[in-house]
Parts: sequence; C-alpha cells; structure tokens
Amino acid sequence: NLVSGDSIRRRFIDFYASRGHKVLPSSSLVSDDPTVLLTIAGMLQFKPIFLGKVPREVPRATTAQKCIRTNDVENVGRTSRHHTFFEMLGNFSFGDYFKREAIRWAWELSIEEFGLPADRVWISVYEEDDEAFKIWHEEVGVPVERIKRMGEEDNFWTSGATGPCGPCSELYYDFHPERGVDEADLEDDSRFLEFYNLVFMQYNRKDDGSLEPLKQQNIDTGLGLERLARILQKVPNNYETDLVYPIIQKASELAAVSYHDADDKKKVQLKIIGDHTRAIVYLLSDGVLPSNVGRGYVVRQLIRRAVRTGWLLGIKGNCKGNIEGAFLPTIAQTVIEMSTAIDPEVKARASRIIGELQREELRFVQTLERGEKLLELKLAEALSCAKQSERSPCLLGNDVFLLYATYGYPVEITTEVAIEKGVEIDREGFDVEMEEHRRQSQANHNIVKLDVENGGDLAEKVADTEFLGYDTLSTKAMVQS
Ligand code: ATP
Ligand code: MG
Ligand code: MG
Ligand code: MG
Repeated sequence: NLVSGDSIRRRFIDFYASRGHKVLPSSSLVSDDPTVLLTIAGMLQFKPIFLGKVPREVPRATTAQKCIRTNDVENVGRTSRHHTFFEMLGNFSFGDYFKREAIRWAWELSIEEFGLPADRVWISVYEEDDEAFKIWHEEVGVPVERIKRMGEEDNFWTSGATGPCGPCSELYYDFHPERGVDEADLEDDSRFLEFYNLVFMQYNRKDDGSLEPLKQQNIDTGLGLERLARILQKVPNNYETDLVYPIIQKASELAAVSYHDADDKKKVQLKIIGDHTRAIVYLLSDGVLPSNVGRGYVVRQLIRRAVRTGWLLGIKGNCKGNIEGAFLPTIAQTVIEMSTAIDPEVKARASRIIGELQREELRFVQTLERGEKLLELKLAEALSCAKQSERSPCLLGNDVFLLYATYGYPVEITTEVAIEKGVEIDREGFDVEMEEHRRQSQANHNIVKLDVENGGDLAEKVADTEFLGYDTLSTKAMVQS
C-alpha cells in the first residue's frame, strides 16, 4: 500500500536521501532546548547549527520527527487537522542549498512523487518575498492566482527578538476547486489544508531591529505526515487515516459505540482518545513521568483528559469515580503495536509504559473518589438549602469550580451526577470563576515567558501546580521557539 502512513514516511525520506540528504533519527520528545518543554518541530534538534553555535556535521539532512504541540490541545477533534502528537517530516540545509532547490523539490515531491494534481496545490509566500514568488511562478509554473502573499504573522519565522530569521512559504491542498479562485481564502479550513511549510532562514535581525543578510543561509521545512496521509487516503480528517484510526476503533469497541454511527459529540470524544493515547505513549516512552511540574504535568493532564473522556463515552459504564481497573492501558497497547516504524524503542519499553499508565489512571480514580465525598456533601447542602428557601436546588458556581480545580471533576460529570439528584448547576457562576482562573494563569505564563527569554530552563521554572484544569496545558510559553 503506497499511501499507508508508513509508506508515505518512507517515500519522503527516500526522496530526500536520494537528493544527498543524510537520514537522521527523530530526536526525543524531551528536547535539550531551554526555550520549550517538548519537541515542537523537526528543526529543534538542529537549532544550535542554525544559530551558528555548533558546526554542521553534514550539509543536508532529513528526518521524521515526533512532535508534541500542547497549544493545539483545544483543537483536537474540533478541527480536522490538529493533533497533540504528530510526526513532522523535514528536509534541512545547513548553509548548503537554498530557496530555489527547496521550492522545486517540495513541488516535485508533492506532484511527481505523491501524485497530487498540480491544480489542487496552492502556495503562500511572505508578502515581501518577491524571489520566492518568482520561483513558484516562473520556474515551477504555478499560476499567479494560486500564489497568495501573506503577512509577517503567518509567513515570517523568527527564533526570538534578534538572530536568524526569514520568510516562509507554505503548500496548501484544495479540497474544493469548484468553489473557484475569486473568493479563495487559504485560512478557510473547510476548503484548504496546509501541509508543508518551507522556512528560508536568510537574515539576521540586529539589536536595532534591522535585517542583514546571513552568510550561512539555511533551509528548515516541515510536512505533517498525518495531513498528507489524510489527503492521499481520501478520508475526511487526519483521525481517519491508518495512523490514528485503529486506536479510535479500539476505544469505540471498549465503549460499544460505532464511530461511523456516532453523533458529532461522541466522534470528538473518540478522536480525543485516539489523539491523546498516542501522545501519552510516546511521552512515557521518552521518559516523561506524570507529575505536577513541567513535562510531567503535560502527560498527567493528557492522561486525565483521556480517562475522563472515556468515562463520558461510557467506557466502564460509570463516571462517578468508583471504577475498578484501568482501561487506557488496553488502548495504549494498540498504539504500541503500531509504533515500530515511528519509534522502534517503544515496543522494548512497553511493559514500563503500560505499568506507569495503569498506576496513573488508578491514582486519578482515587482523586475523584476523594472528590466524590465533597460533591455529595455539596449536593446535600444544595437540597436542604432549597427546602428552606423554597427555591429549586442549585449547586453554586464556586463549588463546581472547586471540584474542578481541586479534584479534576469535569463540569460534565458534576452536572450529570447533580441532575441525577435533582440539583441544577450554576453554570454561569462556574464560567465566571473559570474566566478569573484563566486570567490568572495567563498572567503566570507571562512570567514564565520572561524567564525563558532570560535564558532560564522552562522545565525547572514552571512552578509546582495543583490540578488547575485542562486549559492550563496550552501555555504559550511551551511553544515559543
Ligand atoms: P496550522 O496553521 O494548521 O496550525 P502551523 O502553521 O502551526 O499549522 P507549522 O508550524 O508550519 O504548522 O508546522 C509545519 C507542518 O506541521 C504544518 O504544515 C503541518 O503539516 C504540520 N502540523 C503543525 N501542527 C500540527 C498539528 N497540531 N497536528 C498535526 N500536524 C501539524
Ligand atoms: Mg498551528
Ligand atoms: Mg499555519
Ligand atoms: Mg505553518
């Protein structure tokens, strides 16, 4: 099968290997880079070379890099294209080839190697990058109406306020050419899918903000494996590719729900489990243990969210906390079986991964059990208070938030339990508390970010955190690169 995820990865690597690129392994999800918690892109392991701090060993390289992007966690299952864990295929030039070759090869790979119809591929370039525009148009032959100039935010890469930087150019796939060229908007993800990003590192930004050309010009690229698989396998989203779908099938089997018959809400839940279980297995495999700090906090939150989502789906048929046994290890087993071509180490570490996962899932069950007493107390209070005041029983917003923040009780579960007892939820009050919490954690993130810019180690500096709900996962600081 030429379009299986494993074949696509191999064909990409072979394509660049036969063009003089050294094939290098993925680096660990635990990055050496002090500015990020986890590996967010293929370029990270080469950053010291790009920054001129370390001499290059080879002029060109190609990798399939395991990545985690916690900033995309809210997108999981809600967009058709975002994962927390994904593989980024990349080709890199360390002061060797530059814009012309990078563009031509990206096109050749897409059209000749993978057979994408040329009129389905659209291009974005940085608005001031006339050179890239010209290469795409005059040398590659892309008509001007399919090349869009975009601004700094989308199409200019920097690694900080000063230092190496440069314009990017991205390749998008058009699922709906019948909608025409007039209104075409590359940001419209019901029509377009970004799949390949080319970064042309050609300037050094000086202290005064001005740009000077770099002596050593570099190429850094990233192509999302799951996204190309989605295009080539002709499925409606990344989750239905052979890279993720078997995990979803396992979860739907345990939940006794059929994915294709499920409503949208259940589909999203199955996608969350499919996504998070992958991330969890690869994080545990790379030695990240659940904890309340830094990376450990990321994996703990992913595990808890996957477990809760499983309960909401009806896995084990009970979401009140008195669950016996863990179910995530069963789903993780499927991820491990699928891991050989992604990371051959995972199978060797399987028993440690499964053991750790089981312990953490049961630990979470115990946490919820402790919360259950508080929930029952608050429900009883609400009922007796209602009797006295002759109003309908209602659980206060700050109690719902307390359960959420301290015991990890998702609002959905609290609501479900409360309704069973005939108690309503002060959802508005909860939202107010939540908003206040968001504001505060945002302020905390800004502090972390400043530390990072001062060269500190983010993983060390993320303070010990109590369970503060899921949104705190998406710290911007984690994805600064
Ligand atoms: P998007 O705009 O879709 O969020 P991006 O511009 O943030 O993507 P880049 O930083 O350019 O992505 O990363 C390079 C490539 O990696 C993307 O073109 C895409 O194919 C892939 N990619 C990025 N983020 C994700 C993700 N969360 N899940 C799956 N693939 C991703
Ligand atoms: Mg993104
Ligand atoms: Mg983008
Ligand atoms: Mg991009």
